[in-house]
Amino acid sequence: MNNGAQDPDKKTITRFAPSPTGPLHLGHAYAALVAWDMAVEAGGDFLLRIEDIDQSRARAHWEARIYDDLRWLGLWWPEPVMRQSDNLQRYRAALEQLWAADLVYPCTCTRRDIQQAASAPHEGTPPHGPDGVIYPGTCRRARARFVPDPLPQDAALRLDMRAALDAIARRPFAAPLHFTETGDGSARRVTIGHDQAIKTIGDVVLARRDMGSSYHLSVVLDDATQGITHVTRGRDLYEATAIHVILQRLLDLPTPVYHHHRLIRDDAGQRLAKRDDARAIATYRDQGASQADIRRLVGL
Ligand code: GLU
Repeated sequence: MNNGAQDPDKKTITRFAPSPTGPLHLGHAYAALVAWDMAVEAGGDFLLRIEDIDQSRARAHWEARIYDDLRWLGLWWPEPVMRQSDNLQRYRAALEQLWAADLVYPCTCTRRDIQQAASAPHEGTPPHGPDGVIYPGTCRRARARFVPDPLPQDAALRLDMRAALDAIARRPFAAPLHFTETGDGSARRVTIGHDQAIKTIGDVVLARRDMGSSYHLSVVLDDATQGITHVTRGRDLYEATAIHVILQRLLDLPTPVYHHHRLIRDDAGQRLAKRDDARAIATYRDQGASQADIRRLVGL
């Protein structure tokens, strides 16, 4: 059983996982180069994954631009490239497994319902987790106490966090939930507490009505399928890692080492956004920048 440890003799496999929803900018270049450098230094592999689960925003021309910009940066990767839109059945199978274990439940709340229910008894802002307002549990409390078959299609599916953590704790030889973080320069063990996860994460969405899987479920399954040993990504995703470790444990998947790196910001200190064309890699290329210039610009 997976207990969050990494085999030191295992070949290092890193990945860059962009969404094809806009041009790659300096922040993406940095993320890709961090993953690339880590793989190269360890004599391992660098993989690319196209995170196109949100088909309403993914575009083929952005995907083509991703390949072009990354090749220009001097990166290469094994083909075929994994695309999330090809993995829908795998996501569904995992949802069915969690559904059969009575760990997910359908939720029909709108954003507004959640906001209202979450703020009702409180003064001020309702508590927030990695996905925004922590779900107040309306549909969990209202749900039927049996497992109807098949998996519902017409509702979002949420993880019952308390039931999930209880199920993990009940397993024989269950090790504490933890992961290794190396983003601060040295390896540190981060432990995920039961009560803390219920309070600060809550019942996250694992599938949306219009999208067969959420980011959290897809990323966990894809990293496992690609055999990723080291996940490098921006610090903005640090808080989401507890969700990923919980899902890995529930689905019996290995927990990679995590390396959350700094974010590249603009002159005003804001995180770069897809619409920030001024810092698109393509803009620097058009202006005659070299790969070394890009490395310098992102502080590598
Ligand atoms: N697709 C995500 C992004 O573009 C990256 C997710 C991850 O690295 O875990 O921000």
